[in-house]
Amino acid sequence: MSALTGVGVSPGIGVGPAYVLAYEATVPAPGSRHGGDAPAELALAGRALERVAADLEERGARAGGEAREILEAQAMMARDPGLADGVATLVGAGAAAARAVYEAFGHYRDLLAAAGGYLGERVADLDDVRDRAIAVIEGRPAPGVPEDTGRPYVLVARDLAPADTALLSPDVVAAFVTEQGGPTSHTAILARAMGVPAVVACPGATSIAPGTPVLVDGASGLVRPEPSDDEVLGARDAAAAREAVLASATGPGTTADGHAVPLLANIGGPRDVAAALEHGAEGIGLYRTEFLFLDRAEAPSEAEQEAAYLEVLDAFPGGRVIVRTLDAGADKPLAFLLPGAHEPNPALGERGVRLFRTHPEIMGTQLAALASAAARSKGRLQVMAPMVATAEEAAWFADACEAAGLPSAGVMIEIPSAALRASDLAVRAGFLSVGTNDLAQYALAADRQLGALTGLQDAWQPALLDLVALAAAGAAERGRPCGACGEAAADPALACVLVGLGVTSLSMSAPALPAVRAALSRHTRRQCRLAAAAARAAASPADARAEARSHLPGLAGLAL
Ligand code: PEP
Ligand code: MG
Repeated sequence: MSALTGVGVSPGIGVGPAYVLAYEATVPAPGSRHGGDAPAELALAGRALERVAADLEERGARAGGEAREILEAQAMMARDPGLADGVATLVGAGAAAARAVYEAFGHYRDLLAAAGGYLGERVADLDDVRDRAIAVIEGRPAPGVPEDTGRPYVLVARDLAPADTALLSPDVVAAFVTEQGGPTSHTAILARAMGVPAVVACPGATSIAPGTPVLVDGASGLVRPEPSDDEVLGARDAAAAREAVLASATGPGTTADGHAVPLLANIGGPRDVAAALEHGAEGIGLYRTEFLFLDRAEAPSEAEQEAAYLEVLDAFPGGRVIVRTLDAGADKPLAFLLPGAHEPNPALGERGVRLFRTHPEIMGTQLAALASAAARSKGRLQVMAPMVATAEEAAWFADACEAAGLPSAGVMIEIPSAALRASDLAVRAGFLSVGTNDLAQYALAADRQLGALTGLQDAWQPALLDLVALAAAGAAERGRPCGACGEAAADPALACVLVGLGVTSLSMSAPALPAVRAALSRHTRRQCRLAAAAARAAASPADARAEARSHLPGLAGLAL
């Protein structure tokens, strides 16, 4: 069998026989009904959900650390009152317990899946709770993996749930490989916490025959069945060399000629701070506050918000923490903000900062919570608005921040009009931050949630690079900094190109920081500029990448 490729999410080399997790959850037949005793059926569903919750908690207590938090969050899903109401309604209408559970979970599943990104990756956790509950109702064994086979194995699965992986250790598992999942899936998070190599989004992995020896490179994403001894040795040497290079670049981000480029982390809340610190983030470049607001009947209180912001600010005394105000709508739907909203085109609808115009009370509470948190902390708070299209919106937001006592207000550049008129926006905005994910979506008219359009979403699209250059130049004209906080910043080659385009700081998911730090440290600002010019002169993303790399020789030493 030839080598497979996925996304490396936890570095290191793992070798062992494949243990292929074949568990397939059953889908209770549509329309399956109970025999007429609704209360008994509802009690059956309730007992199953409670048993699953208790089992997850028990596993969490045994595993401890990060796994405990993740499993406790899953137990909360099983005990969610909204879910219980959904099950009760369905059972009341005659649905069998298993089917009712399946359908009630479906509602939440659709919401998360539509959100994509970090939220989309929570779907696997939700599915696992659902499948465990259905297995209990149907009297079948729950999914599981062996906790000891005598020799570390490579665990291969379509997807893995935290409950499967939490109790494993490097003595038991040599590497994880999943067909699904992404860099922020819990497989990835737990693998990194355990120090076990992992590759996710690896199509075809479950067709590896059980017992086949497999080599897994958790940095490059290579999965090679039946490797030769030389291949194993070569992979181990290359991984060790790469690790040495990464370890040699420490401290604040800087190019080889000493030009400072602060390296910051993207987070979804206080629980991501540990990873940011572990990977040497100099601060937070994007705090996505949506997670605080998710899955709730009303907005979190000012006190609750203040506590969440304060926890992050306190983790970076003297460092900057850029908090993005609520970015609801389209790929980030919030139940309480869009009651029955029926926009034909939500990505072009009333979203991001536009929602604050119609819901000033939500903005008021959030800005007040931020101001109180900033007043109590040594962290340097900066606030920015998402989805700003015009200079007028930027000024309106800056005024609101000033009135709330917040000294530093910036805006995200995610809409082409904002990039084109960046210098106008920067009159009132104290800083700009390019969100390449949405900027690509709007520049190429390619929905970021459509897998079929990923080619158009490619951050190496020369048109996107042109817009980033315009944004950076517009900011510079007004003496304002212009950061980048979309996924593009996490690609070491593209990070160098962004710096060459004039971007002044880079923010990314924490695990990407060491490779970006090393890539910058191996190139001068002039090389970054040459790479940027070459990429912009190219006619396709593939050519842009190749042309840029020809000016970035230090990437080879990083095995990138
Ligand atoms: C972006 O659009 O690039 C961005 C950083 O914001 P989000 O991914 O949260 O939309
Ligand atoms: Mg965005």
